[in-house]
Amino acid sequence: MKAIIFGAPGAGKGTYASRLQAKLGVDVIAMGDIFRELIKEDSELGRKVKGYVEKGVLVPDDVVVEVLKQHLSKISKGKGFILDGYPRTLDQAKTLDAITKIDVILLLNVPDWIIIERLSTRRICRNCGTVYNTRFLKPKVEGVCDKCGGPLYQRSDDTIEVIKKRLSVYQEQTKPLLEFYKKKQIPFIVSNATALETPPEPMVEQLLAGLKQLKLA
Ligand SMILES: [Zn+2]
Repeated sequence: MKAIIFGAPGAGKGTYASRLQAKLGVDVIAMGDIFRELIKEDSELGRKVKGYVEKGVLVPDDVVVEVLKQHLSKISKGKGFILDGYPRTLDQAKTLDAITKIDVILLLNVPDWIIIERLSTRRICRNCGTVYNTRFLKPKVEGVCDKCGGPLYQRSDDTIEVIKKRLSVYQEQTKPLLEFYKKKQIPFIVSNATALETPPEPMVEQLLAGLKQLKLA
């Protein structure tokens, strides 16, 4: 199964991807995590990525593609993957299409009001990037990461004003991508959240049922 997962910031893409990873034994390819790992590595590509990240500029497309190709080549044949956070632009989608064929689009539909509530209560580990929530996903010790003991912080762009802006940017960016995959007749599995306290399990089950129907799981 080669999938791309789409969902607004705060829709829980990372959570659902890792649950599916555990159930299906697929790889999750999250560009943010790959960059973080690469930077720790003493390789030419790692130094290149580090240069951009340290300057606070976006890593250019050709470098991202290089990173992605290297990562895909490491995945054993026959093992599926879920791409999280890539592609973000139509150009990237077209480049990806030339590298590999995508089987399915996983789309998380979460209403804006739920996203706003979730993001404004979100905390992130400064060390390993694990995401927590002061309402639904509390760490064992307040302000401390369960996994690595690192300090948790609130992103400066997790304020309501900025979240609203980010949601509209996401919609604008994603619309042409979804249209691109619809035109290519790639099947979609849509999972809908309707309540703030929607636990991940029913949404994961929705996605799994869709994958089974397509004989991808
Ligand atoms: Zn941590």
